[in-house]
Amino acid sequence: MIVYFNDKYIPHEEVKISPFDRSFLFSDGVYEALRTYNGKLFRLQDHLERLKYSLQELEICYKDFDHLENIFTKLSKINNIKSEYSVYLQISRGVSFPRTHNYENNLTPNVFAFAKLIKDNSKEKNFGIKVILEKDLRWLRCDIKSTSLLSSVMANQNAIRNNAFEAILFRDDIITEGSHTNFFAVKNNKIYTAPLSNYILSGITRKVILELCKENKIDFSEEHIKVSDIEYYDEFFITGTTTEVTPVIQIDDCIVGDGKPGNITRSIQELFFNSVKQV
Ligand code: PLP
Repeated sequence: MIVYFNDKYIPHEEVKISPFDRSFLFSDGVYEALRTYNGKLFRLQDHLERLKYSLQELEICYKDFDHLENIFTKLSKINNIKSEYSVYLQISRGVSFPRTHNYENNLTPNVFAFAKLIKDNSKEKNFGIKVILEKDLRWLRCDIKSTSLLSSVMANQNAIRNNAFEAILFRDDIITEGSHTNFFAVKNNKIYTAPLSNYILSGITRKVILELCKENKIDFSEEHIKVSDIEYYDEFFITGTTTEVTPVIQIDDCIVGDGKPGNITRSIQELFFNSVKQV
C-alpha cells in the first residue's frame, strides 16, 4: 500500500518516524477518518472543521487544510482503488528531544494518511448487532479526536471477546457513546441521543442523522439515555463513518424487542442511505 507521509507518497513499509515523535511517547496527536460515497469524500468540510477543532484544543500547529482533499484523492488513485474507500489521517504534534511532558509551540507536525477499501458490513446493518455495556474509562475531553485511545481499544476488545460488535460506554448511570460510534435509542417513535459535551465525540454521522430527523419531522431529543432505563426503550442503533446506521438487537444478555431491527431504525437507515446516494 502506498501511504502519505509528510509530503511523500511511499510504500507503507518505508515510513520512518522518530520514537521521539510525541504521538509515540504521549499519544500526542489527532486523527480523522472519513469515507466516500459515489467516489466523493462525504462531508469533507465537517471532518475538516472537527479536525481544526481538535488541533486547536491541543495547540498543534497544522495549517495545510487546503491540501488534504488532494492528498486523499491522490491516495485512492495511486493505490488504484476503484470503489468506495475510507481515509485515515493522523497529525502528531511532532518530534521533541529530550522527552518532556510540556511542549514547545513551534514543533513540526508529522502527517500520515492512508486510504483503504471499505469493508462490507451489510450483514451487521441488515441483521443488527450485539453490544456490551462497559464503564467509560476515557478522559474528560472525548470531544477531541485524539489518538489517545487505549481505554476505547480495551472496551472494543472486550466487546469482540464477548461476541459483540461494539462496547457502549457509561459514566455513572449515563450512556455516553460507543468505543468508536455514537449511540441512539428510540422510545414511542422518538429518537434519543446524548447531547454534545466533553463526554462524547461530535460524530459527523450523528449530525447527519439529526439533520435528517429535522427535515423529515421525526421527533428527536438530545438528552441522556440512562443505563437504568434501558429496558424502557424500544430500539437502539449506533452510527459512525463506516458503521453508518447499524441496528442494535442485543445488549449484554438482553435481546432488544423481538431480536430484529426496529421500524424507526429501519426508517433512519433508509433516509440515510437515500441521502448518501444523492451526494
Ligand atoms: N464516537 C467515537 C468515540 C468515535 O471514535 C467515532 C468515530 O470514530 C464516532 C463517535 C463516530 O463519528 P463519525 O460519525 O464522525 O465517524
